[in-house]
Amino acid sequence: MGQRKASSDGDRKVGRRALLIGGTVAAAGSAVLARDELARLWWRTPGVEKPRKEGEVDYAGARWVAASEANWRRADRPDDYGIDMVVVHVTQGSFDSAVKAFQDPGHRAAAHYIVRQDGHVAQMIRELDVAYHAGNRDYNERSVGIEHEGFVDRPQDFTDEMYEASARLTARICARYDIPVDREHIIGHVEVPGTDHTDPGRHWDWERYMRLVRRARTSPA
Ligand SMILES: [Zn+2]
Repeated sequence: MGQRKASSDGDRKVGRRALLIGGTVAAAGSAVLARDELARLWWRTPGVEKPRKEGEVDYAGARWVAASEANWRRADRPDDYGIDMVVVHVTQGSFDSAVKAFQDPGHRAAAHYIVRQDGHVAQMIRELDVAYHAGNRDYNERSVGIEHEGFVDRPQDFTDEMYEASARLTARICARYDIPVDREHIIGHVEVPGTDHTDPGRHWDWERYMRLVRRARTSPA
């Protein structure tokens, strides 16, 4: 659009006013730009946290229920700690009892997610943060922990809905952090060095689970 020549006094006034408004808009525009630049820098600077929103989830299929702050450590992953692992757990109790435990500051442990037997997914800790779930500091810092409702000695607890929902969740985590879909990077709690936990146990069908994760990883979200 070209500039119009003012032919009368009235037009000139309008012209000057328009210029003034234009100038204000331009200034506001650069302020927005500067704020965006600042936000980008903010994101990149180690030790400076990304903006967060209360109740925000990292996985669209999850419902937010906050864990007690005593059960995780604030971080800025994947910028301060890279994420290259998913750790599979079994709750050894009901979904509700696991939620309650993770809300209890005395529990001193919690995972990022809990998958219920009907496929419902709760997120209790942001993936930005380090959840105390693996019993190993290094593994906590580099992994996302997923709990599954049930008992390790009850194969019937591992329902189709649970496998499907968990596999979709794990596939999205792998996609987001570029984690290879293999058993080096998707492990059971039992495989964490130094742990005395046995979950997910011998009834967890790894072959089936990995097949479902691979399928969910390659199909559009
Ligand atoms: Zn565990």
